[in-house]
Amino acid sequence: MKLEAIEKSKEKQWIAEKYVNNVYETIKQRNLYENEFLQAVKEILDSLLPVLIKHPKYMENGILERITEPERLIIFRVPWVDDTGKVKVNRGFRVQFNSSIGPYKGGLRFHPTVNSSIIKFLGFEQIFKNALTGMPIGGGKGGSDFDPKGKSDGEIMRFCQSFMTELSQYIGPDIDVPAGDIGVGAREIGYLFGQYKRIRGGFPSGVLTGKGLGYGGSLARREATGYGTVYFVEEMLNNNGYTFNGSTVIVSGSGNVSIYAMEKAMQLGANVIACSDSDGYVYDPHGINLATVKRLKEVERKRIKEYIFDHPHAVYVEGCSKIWSIPCDIALPCATQNEINSESAKLLIDNGVKAIGEGANMPSTLEAVELFLNSDILFGPGKAVNAGGVAVSALEMSQNSMRLSWAFDEVDEKLKMIMKNIYQRSISCAEEYGHPGNLVVGANIAGFITVADAMLAHGVI
Ligand code: NDP
Repeated sequence: MKLEAIEKSKEKQWIAEKYVNNVYETIKQRNLYENEFLQAVKEILDSLLPVLIKHPKYMENGILERITEPERLIIFRVPWVDDTGKVKVNRGFRVQFNSSIGPYKGGLRFHPTVNSSIIKFLGFEQIFKNALTGMPIGGGKGGSDFDPKGKSDGEIMRFCQSFMTELSQYIGPDIDVPAGDIGVGAREIGYLFGQYKRIRGGFPSGVLTGKGLGYGGSLARREATGYGTVYFVEEMLNNNGYTFNGSTVIVSGSGNVSIYAMEKAMQLGANVIACSDSDGYVYDPHGINLATVKRLKEVERKRIKEYIFDHPHAVYVEGCSKIWSIPCDIALPCATQNEINSESAKLLIDNGVKAIGEGANMPSTLEAVELFLNSDILFGPGKAVNAGGVAVSALEMSQNSMRLSWAFDEVDEKLKMIMKNIYQRSISCAEEYGHPGNLVVGANIAGFITVADAMLAHGVI
């Protein structure tokens, strides 16, 4: 390259970096103490540099300033009455982050740690994830600091009814379509749908996804995030000369995503040796018995420590973060955000892990991601790896609109194709923008371009 050309390219890089830093500093000032949201924004902004250098139109039109500011953040009171007759009050949230390519779409999380930072980080990630699926869905997320653990069915129902009474004003099949997330499964979606239907009348099946099969749900939605995680990772492994077959796998969590990631990994011939809940983890060198985990978690709603009553050769360890000290070939974090810090990342690397696939949203800290990217480990980021859940939710919306339901295998086949496409799109974007093999950069850029181009087309709104 001639000296002049080198100078020019350095200048472009400098301008883009300065712009990104300024945007980030403003966001930091405006969202003080929202650490999870800032973490998600930082990761995306840093990875967008190559696209801003190549296409300055995104800087000139203030796309970053607009895409990082939610279109709407709704916060509301959720009063309900517990079984002893006592009045309780929780806080409800819905962030409608970006509707450039379709109605807002994203789950509801019920967990005591929920606050506006958590909801905004999840909603922000959702924009790019949804765009990656290739489906016409925008980004949203919601939830409450309500803790479903230890509550009776009656308490859960009354809470869900109160939550939906308020939320129903803001959602609808063509406006905003929530689904489940941590603490929101089939039971909660049933109560939420019942209350929406009661308030709005008719049979508004397209307003929520993750519904029961008897009233508009899609086959394979329950399995979609976990299966999709494994389909993505299998594609990543196959493209690099590895496979799940014969590998040792650790899957954190023991909820919806974790259970179906374990199931698919086992079907592909992996030996899954550990899983967890928020109290601790079980290590079963014979291979986790999934029937026991399903009974404990899906039916009896018990703690994972009870696994060892049925399998005395297994070990239970209090505290979930140490699960990453067990040597494995493939690690699938499927519990919650920031569950892998730099210490756990180092342990995984030192113990010879070959691949990480993030089934959960943002389960690795920024430092942990950096360590993975700087090693020769294959690393699949959450917004690409776990996009299968929302993809099948969009398929549920399609089936509801057409008033028909597809067979399990048909949905599963579509899911497989979607996950392969997400991998291929991300890997080729990484290559095109000068970071070969870096799926963080590739997925972020692929999702960003889809949304940013729609925003450009719509003008400044
Ligand atoms: P569930 O509520 O079904 O399961 C969550 C699991 O993670 C449980 O085992 C839970 O343990 C554990 N967990 C929750 N919080 C913590 C914590 N602070 N520390 C350690 N463990 C914790 O949720 P899902 O399986 O649906 O969601 C798991 C992850 O996947 C989340 O990050 C979610 O955002 C993401 N995701 C989910 C999708 C879906 O379709 N459900 C789609 C895409 C992403 P315990 O029971 O003790 O609380």
